[in-house]
Amino acid sequence: CILASPAKSPSSSLPAPGRDFSSQTPITATLFPGDGIGPEIAESVKQVFKAAEIPIKWEEHYIGTEIDPRTQSFLTWESLESVRCNKVGLKGPMATPIGKGHRSLNLTMRKELNLYANVRPCCSLPGYKTRYDNVNLVTIRENTEGEYSGLEHQVVRGVVESLKIITRSASLRVAEYAFHYAKANDRERVSAIHKANIMQKTDGLFLECCREVAEKYPEIKYEEVIIDNCCMMLVKNPTLFDVLVMPNLYGDIISDLCAGLIGGLGLTPSCNIGEGGIALAEAVHGSAPDIAGKNMANPTALLLSSVMMLRHLNLNEKANQIQNAIIGTIADGKYRTADLSGSSSTTEFTNAICDNL
Ligand code: NAD
Repeated sequence: CILASPAKSPSSSLPAPGRDFSSQTPITATLFPGDGIGPEIAESVKQVFKAAEIPIKWEEHYIGTEIDPRTQSFLTWESLESVRCNKVGLKGPMATPIGKGHRSLNLTMRKELNLYANVRPCCSLPGYKTRYDNVNLVTIRENTEGEYSGLEHQVVRGVVESLKIITRSASLRVAEYAFHYAKANDRERVSAIHKANIMQKTDGLFLECCREVAEKYPEIKYEEVIIDNCCMMLVKNPTLFDVLVMPNLYGDIISDLCAGLIGGLGLTPSCNIGEGGIALAEAVHGSAPDIAGKNMANPTALLLSSVMMLRHLNLNEKANQIQNAIIGTIADGKYRTADLSGSSSTTEFTNAICDNL
């Protein structure tokens, strides 16, 4: 499967499409190498882009060492301004302490930049055998609210409360994006994933919005699937699905499940779509602290994310060139990283991709 372009925002009900990049060479894009394995895999992307002569100039930004009062996190205001200005970027994984500590960098970034939809294509890689060889689906995750609203508190000792926020505006916006994406990429069906039998108000509102948008797209089939059943169906027969749209937390979980269907988190890319035409690509995986600094990480997920970024910029020939080199290298089997049962280092695998360009 060819990783489709993360379709630009529908212009009717959503903010104006992004900047016109056609006349700018080289194009300036923001790069966050991120935490853990982030700098190693970001280095791979830079190496491959250089070898493929991609007309991109990276503006690199690092996570700050002190809390910036303007963002209330370790993300600096300048780095967010860079994305706002360039409108396109690539982000490495950023670690979040579990159960305590500073505000999540990822949450800050999504909220500050209003990255409202996260597009996560999951396609079987030809030449890499898993239980299924024909997975071809896309998870579209609402990215700004739900259980990720960060509204948690202790009610009394021993009792804590976490609020799940679902709004009509955010649900309509992500549903609109999902249908627009399906139409722009010749997809047949959108499935709304929910638990509205239990979360009647929140997921109920999410479904109501999906139904409303579905009526505007009669050419796209629409269905609703309860999340637990969806997990079972995905594991049993992933070809039952095409485009899936869902609230935030479900998208986080389902997309990792989908990654498992095609060979793991080392392979799955994504792109965050924001207000004002922002596109910030990033791998689905996290900072992988267990292998960080060991030159073992698989850079494929971040490389394929950069391919999504190139498609967003209409640099399709370059995108194909890199995508084919990645697929060819993995299919050849001589150079594979440990997560794909190989013994190559990140560097050896990256060099092999460059040789295959
Ligand atoms: P993880 O995705 O970092 O790792 C899960 C497993 O997958 C690990 O065994 C890891 O070694 C493996 N893995 C992940 N990416 C790989 C790659 N490219 N190559 C080879 N193996 C890879 O998930 P986690 O351990 O739950 O989270 C670690 C940290 O990352 C946490 O702080 C979490 O909050 C953060 N996180 C960040 C993002 C993001 O920046 N978007 C996403 C998920 C998790």
